[in-house]
Amino acid sequence: MCNQVVSLDEYEYWVNDKEGYLACGDCVRLDTDIRDAYLKHLTNNPQCADVIFKEEDLVNLGYTRCDKDFETGLYEFQDDDPESILENAKAQLDDDEFIFRIDATSPFDIRYNLFSKKV
Ligand SMILES: [Zn+2]
Repeated sequence: MCNQVVSLDEYEYWVNDKEGYLACGDCVRLDTDIRDAYLKHLTNNPQCADVIFKEEDLVNLGYTRCDKDFETGLYEFQDDDPESILENAKAQLDDDEFIFRIDATSPFDIRYNLFSKKV
């Protein structure tokens, strides 16, 4: 991994706490070991979401985007909860693993999707 200096504004980086390195978006996309560690970290993890891959990238990696879009934010209707989203998804597709992907963020809300993959 490059451990390069990244701009936090760019928002495209991943800190691997377990192995103690920081990978930029290119490292995650291009280095298969880092990519696999990154995806493993995200799998079935309601605390973290992908910010590096495009939707097409995930589809090419074998993931399927679940139909529903989710929002968490300041407005009352923006009350989706990743923990329960994941629990429900697991209950419906118990052979699959899941990752969250962030679609858009603003200071007031965050929009995201869930992707599934057969194990
Ligand atoms: Zn890098």
